[in-house]
Amino acid sequence: MSTIVTKFGGSSLADANQFKKVKDIIVSNEERKYVIPSAPGKRNSKDSKITDLLYLCHAHVSTGISFDEVFNHIKDRYCGIVKDLNLDFNISKHLDIVKNDLEEGASSDYAASRGEYLNGLILANYLGFEFVDAKEVMIFNDDGSLDSEATNLALNSKLSKISKAVIPGFYGADKDGNIITFSRGGSDITGALVAASINADLYENWTDVSGFLMADPRIIKNPKPISKITYTELRELSYMGASVLHEDAIFPVREIGIPINIKNTNKPEDEGTFIVKDTDISTKPTTITGIAGKKDFTVISITKASMNSELGFCRKLLSILEQHNISFENMPSGIDTVCLVISDSQLKHKKESVVDEIKRTCNPDTIEIHPNLAMIATVGRGMAKQRGTAAKIFTALSNAEINIRMIDQGSSEMNILVGIENDNFEKGISAIYNAFN
Ligand code: ADP
Ligand code: ASP
Ligand code: MG
Repeated sequence: MSTIVTKFGGSSLADANQFKKVKDIIVSNEERKYVIPSAPGKRNSKDSKITDLLYLCHAHVSTGISFDEVFNHIKDRYCGIVKDLNLDFNISKHLDIVKNDLEEGASSDYAASRGEYLNGLILANYLGFEFVDAKEVMIFNDDGSLDSEATNLALNSKLSKISKAVIPGFYGADKDGNIITFSRGGSDITGALVAASINADLYENWTDVSGFLMADPRIIKNPKPISKITYTELRELSYMGASVLHEDAIFPVREIGIPINIKNTNKPEDEGTFIVKDTDISTKPTTITGIAGKKDFTVISITKASMNSELGFCRKLLSILEQHNISFENMPSGIDTVCLVISDSQLKHKKESVVDEIKRTCNPDTIEIHPNLAMIATVGRGMAKQRGTAAKIFTALSNAEINIRMIDQGSSEMNILVGIENDNFEKGISAIYNAFN
């Protein structure tokens, strides 16, 4: 029999009614053996995610403010789910332990992880599956990075003995048992790691949209769905802000070619999107597959006559970033110019020091800082074989009266990046989307 690993996002498990949908999905196919839940998400646009509330509890404790009110809200949500599902399960006991741990100064990662932990306990009870605490199978190094090998071994040895299990997403532990979380949205990574460790036939990722759409549905009304997309295209899109799947969730499954199917918990009959290897797509690609983008970048633009013939210029420049522990997004260059595109979250508080160091070490003719830049990626494996894609993007932006501040095309010819003003971000995405549809 095939094995399917299923991950359910926060909105899919936001209340008892959603839990029922999830159970219906799981029991409708015996192959769905390992389930990765997120913490309860928003039930409506004004609601809060449990993970955010848990971070808030931790912040309250750290600053000495009472967190009773926030915690009671969390408690009400979990108790409500258990009650509405008519479960004979004492979730209050577990909530009390969490509260006590928070009072005693538990870490922020521990606080956040309890959202998935508690939801996992409830879901395992509801499904009659075994509960596997992620701290036993997701193993982190002391520096907070994942120990993939140890994780793989731990998952393999644990799951080989269990036919059906719930493994909470988002966290694991280091060798001393300290809880560590992935970055936000990280339950997608847990699901991918579980799928890879047992060589699953399919990794299903259930969310609140019917698959990957050509653009963010919060910007474009009813964007076209994508029925098949390659791992590489998806990686480009998720990295550039298509938040439907965590950008790091691709790697474990891509390595061994496990397909990912993005599905809608609220419309399980919809096919969703299949993410597969290039060779698994036989249909001719359309020019572009999708558009995604992110706001808040800064460009540091450096000019120096004959820069390209100065030995070691780029090495000196990049080592300054390394010394400041900054990674950059892009580095478009000309004969006498080079630009560093850096996200504001990386650059914050370090801008002056980086610029001073560049002036001192690289001795440029000019150095300019352009803040408030948004980056839009237009991605498609069909692009390389089609003429005029870039022209179409630039014309669309120009017709929308949007000034392009930066252009970059990856050597794979699968991605055209443009930098525009933050304020033009949504307008820019719409202009490009409309040009291709
Ligand atoms: P979950 O809680 O299930 O993990 P997320 O909120 O992380 O769900 O991801 C799903 C959301 O991603 C959608 O509700 C949608 O608003 C957003 N999104 C952004 N870009 C896209 C896209 N290109 N296609 C589909 N959804 C997208
Ligand atoms: N609950 C975590 C978050 O909100 C992880 C996840 O949903 O994947 O980021
Ligand atoms: Mg998510």
